[in-house]
Amino acid sequence: MKRESKFKQWARKVKQKRLAKRKHYSIDRILWSSFALFAICVILVTGSFQLFTTRKVLKEQISDDLNMVVTEAYLYFDNNRYLTSEQTNNYLYYLSVSKNVNARILDRNGKVVYPSNWQGTETENFGELIASVEEKIKDDPNKRGLSLSDRDDLYYIGYLNNSKSNFLCISRSLEIVNNSMNVVRVQTIFLVILALCIAFLVSGVIAMRLSKPFTEMTNKAKELEKGNFDIDFSGQYYYSEMDDLAKGLNSMRTALSNSDKMQKELIANVSHDMKTPLTMIKAYASMIQEISGDNKEKRTLHTQVIIDEADRLATLVSDILDLSKIRAGIDTLNFAVFNLSEYVYSIIRKFEYLEETQNYHFVPDVENDLYVNADREKIGQVIYNLVGNAVNYTGEDKKIGISLKREKDLIHLRITDSGKGIKEEEIATIWDRYYRSEGTHKRPVKGTGIGLSIVKAICEKHNLVYGVESTVGEGSTFYVDFYAVKAE
Ligand code: ADP
Repeated sequence: MKRESKFKQWARKVKQKRLAKRKHYSIDRILWSSFALFAICVILVTGSFQLFTTRKVLKEQISDDLNMVVTEAYLYFDNNRYLTSEQTNNYLYYLSVSKNVNARILDRNGKVVYPSNWQGTETENFGELIASVEEKIKDDPNKRGLSLSDRDDLYYIGYLNNSKSNFLCISRSLEIVNNSMNVVRVQTIFLVILALCIAFLVSGVIAMRLSKPFTEMTNKAKELEKGNFDIDFSGQYYYSEMDDLAKGLNSMRTALSNSDKMQKELIANVSHDMKTPLTMIKAYASMIQEISGDNKEKRTLHTQVIIDEADRLATLVSDILDLSKIRAGIDTLNFAVFNLSEYVYSIIRKFEYLEETQNYHFVPDVENDLYVNADREKIGQVIYNLVGNAVNYTGEDKKIGISLKREKDLIHLRITDSGKGIKEEEIATIWDRYYRSEGTHKRPVKGTGIGLSIVKAICEKHNLVYGVESTVGEGSTFYVDFYAVKAE
């Protein structure tokens, strides 16, 4: 055997541990959590995307607007170099009102120079901002300033003119962006809650539909467990899989019911069949003890009855065991190619003592060297049972015909007797365990009422065609068709 690598051993152990720890959840719970997770993921992804794009688009728009205002302001200040304080104030006021911005002129320290009456409440340290802008644009002589932003505002800061002593600072509030973001956030939260509710409802309905048939099936299975074999698993299910499951469970129920019936029948029959020989054994043993103990002749007669009845019990037990094993599938078939012709002869020879002792007459018509591929021992049981029955049930002439003939690919085994035959209505039932036609029959070969059930079980396991042709008053022919094979 190949040795498992260390890694594989470790992986197997981890898998086993994981499986052992795995919790089992109800369909409702799994469905609900999957739905909810899916909905939340979708909403969070779309929500974040919306947040990101809205912010970006709005900011770009505000930045473009601000750039236009800056361009306009520079154009004005470049063209009007010698403005009075009032004119500067007026222009900055005009910009602020008409363009919805905060426009001012700062000195190098960040102090507002214009508008002169500036009363802004901004907390920014413009001095630092100016220093950082100057630092950033110092290598680019074409640049006059830069746009900057913080959480609440977007700024432009740049030199007012070539003297580089004053700075133009125009800012625009980002309030609209922040407000929009808040709306999107609230929307997303609302959608998540809505999605959770919908997921709860939808998964509830689906889970109910999904789990209802399972619950029904479980309840029915519990009924079946209690021994109620009338239970019907089929019902009005939404899914074809459930119908298939119901069909499977129904056939399982039928099989269980049959096996239960068979078991009860078996116990009843076995106890009945065992009781007779046991009563006989006890009766004859008492007789030996009380009456025939000293009489050798009688004692031999009585002990012989005990031996015969004990034999009958032993045969009954071994037949029942054989049949149960074959039926339960415990007894696997050992296929092998063998000479069926010789085998049939050897079985006939076992019955030859009946020719000498009880005037039976066996008429074999066996074609030589016919080979089959089958379980030799089991096929022996089939032939032995069929010949034994023919011996038991043949007519006054005590004739038994055994023929083995090949026809194309088939080998026909036919065992014929000249007995009273089997009634049409009985033919189907004789193969059932413990079936025995009415009336007692004196048998030279011991019968237990199981012989034909064993024949049936073995033939069916081999997939062989078998049966009986019978005419009441004339006799019966039991047959089995084998598949011919070449000798090995
Ligand atoms: P048993 O022979 O021990 O009763 P079997 O299973 O071998 O049990 O046979 C079942 C029944 O089938 C028999 O009781 C008998 O009624 C009928 N049967 C079997 N073989 C023959 C036969 N060759 N002729 C007439 N009836 C038969």
